[in-house]
Amino acid sequence: MSPDAERKMQFLFALRSKGVTDARVLGAMEQIDRAAFIRHYFTDRAWEDMPLPIACGQTISQPSVVALMTQALQVSPRDTVLEIGTGSGYQAAVLSCLARRIYTVDRHRRLVREALPIFEEMGLTNITAFTADGSFGLPDQAPFDRILVTAAAEDPPGPLLAQLKIGGIMVLPVGQSDAVQKLIRVTRTERGFDYHELREVRFVPLVEGLGKDS
Ligand code: SAH
Repeated sequence: MSPDAERKMQFLFALRSKGVTDARVLGAMEQIDRAAFIRHYFTDRAWEDMPLPIACGQTISQPSVVALMTQALQVSPRDTVLEIGTGSGYQAAVLSCLARRIYTVDRHRRLVREALPIFEEMGLTNITAFTADGSFGLPDQAPFDRILVTAAAEDPPGPLLAQLKIGGIMVLPVGQSDAVQKLIRVTRTERGFDYHELREVRFVPLVEGLGKDS
């Protein structure tokens, strides 16, 4: 087996051992090359289960966290998904294998600008990326079947709850940015919202307004 194939096999094994059991999610994680979203001096570590630095002082999440969040989102092929926090674009690329359409927004224009050509190169034509303050969601494209937030707010932002369809699911980290946060799943029902705690996580904070470069 080539070193690349062996690294990939170990990567998928690590995901399974951390609780990623959904075959569609594992397939998407296998398909999307994480190294393409990482700056060259870290590409050697792309298949390791660790977060890595990206531009604008942000991070690409640990693959097992990306996979577990994707699994918790229970995406179906007909879904329209909103992601808050494009970052490197990796999570959006994984989602694009599983859903009909992905909208992803980041407050840093540079991150969106750098992710777009990677999506194009990979032929991921169902992703639309915008520079915007994601705390307000995307009212023009709402409502969404699924919403994934990849930066931590103290509470689920009201506009995002409002932009979730009935029967829709949102997965997001909540809590103070300097402490351990809780990953939660919010399901919108006919009567309101059901909240379910998933696990402890650590994410960069959801920050209001656009980045200085934007
Ligand atoms: N999903 C990314 C990792 C995200 S890191 C990946 O796969 O690489 C969190 C991202 O959230 C950062 O890029 C940060 O700029 C962004 N962010 C923080 N607050 C935001 C806000 N209010 N609106 C949009 N993006 C925000």
